[in-house]
Amino acid sequence: MSMSKPRILIAGGGIGGLAAALALIRRGFDVQVYEQAPALKEVGAGVQVSANGMAVLEDLGVADRLMELAAHPEQRQIRMWNTGQRWTAFDLGSISVSTYGHPYVTVYRPDLLDALADGVRAAAPSALHLGRQIVGFDQDDAGVTLRFRDGGTAHGDALVGADGIHSVIRSGLYGADQAEFTGLVAWRGVIPMDSLPPHLAQNVSFNWVGPGRHVIQYPLRAGKLMNFVGIVERTDWLEESWNTPGTHDAMKADFEGWHQDVLDMIDAIPQPYLWALKLRPLLPTWTRGRITLLGDACHATLPFLAQGAVMAIEDGLVLARALEEQPDLTSAFLSYEAARQARTARIVTGSAENTRRFHNPALSDPATAQAYVEREWTPERLRERYDWIYRYDATTVPLGELSA
Ligand code: FAD
Repeated sequence: MSMSKPRILIAGGGIGGLAAALALIRRGFDVQVYEQAPALKEVGAGVQVSANGMAVLEDLGVADRLMELAAHPEQRQIRMWNTGQRWTAFDLGSISVSTYGHPYVTVYRPDLLDALADGVRAAAPSALHLGRQIVGFDQDDAGVTLRFRDGGTAHGDALVGADGIHSVIRSGLYGADQAEFTGLVAWRGVIPMDSLPPHLAQNVSFNWVGPGRHVIQYPLRAGKLMNFVGIVERTDWLEESWNTPGTHDAMKADFEGWHQDVLDMIDAIPQPYLWALKLRPLLPTWTRGRITLLGDACHATLPFLAQGAVMAIEDGLVLARALEEQPDLTSAFLSYEAARQARTARIVTGSAENTRRFHNPALSDPATAQAYVEREWTPERLRERYDWIYRYDATTVPLGELSA
């Protein structure tokens, strides 16, 4: 299986698939990306890109464009669900650059996808294939074949499954999806900033905490939009889809008793959507022969460390570095996987642990709420929880050792 610069097929043209494609193309690989959507589009929502994600985007040559399109919140603040009391958790802005070497930005997802897609198109104009839904694949000693719903096929030397939480490549390798509903539902909406009163239209990323629910709120698009995500513990099962619409009344009922600022923001959302958050067991391995996985396809996470997309971006770069260094495909994939497994598993676990922190019952009692926040969000505890995430540099991290 030894060869140089093989043809790499990528299943899925989302954030992870495009980051991997760009990293590989820039290293001289022949890359073909197959995306089911007829046009490259992302859901109209926000994504936070911390310093470790920006390290990769700088390496891929798309950071300057993103810096123009993004918002640059000055701080992350904690807010109490009922009183609105504030605490500064982190300084972002120039402090992120001086501490971690890279900025912390908040981006409208379509802008991030566009920046990556334009990078891919500029480097390899015919690498992106849209409207190609993958329904299956085969591999043998000669390579990998993808099968599409339209009856067509594509052949390459190796395959990267970057096809997200409902990955066809993962289920083809490891069997049916084992997703379990977490009992958490995410409400989301994007608010035109000029529809908010000045005290809500701030260049700050807020994390509201409360019993059984929390809210994340941050600016997008150079402050023209405000992203709103509200997570609620609910026992009713709902669809795991970004595009299931909900009503303002149902959303407000889920935040009954919360601060007026939260209720006012809900009123200002043009159309709320809701999404059932599910968790999948961690896979013991991501690679079989000429095929590996990346991003949500192999380590879907709750979004409570805001690292799902960033991990997919990091995966793409480490994968490309492994393929560049190790001419044997399977060995390269195993080396990539060995470099990435522990970190991604720790983020998945840490994200789930934040549910209890953000939703803690101590927050319901005025006698305990303030002391709880002051204990959980001290600078020392924040360093313990976030420093190792933001300091990571996928451009230099050692590749994984292969076991004999
Ligand atoms: P996806 O983005 O899902 O892309 C997969 C692509 O594959 C899609 O384009 C899809 O159309 C395509 N595809 C799927 N099946 C097929 C097929 N059969 N054939 C061809 N193409 C196919 N992450 C962060 O880093 N920061 C955040 O602030 C953040 N906030 C979040 C908030 C919420 C509420 C949620 C739910 C998630 C959040 N995330 C965040 C996580 C992030 O959205 C995901 O981890 C990220 O999108 C994963 O990227 P991916 O490329 O692996 O998968």
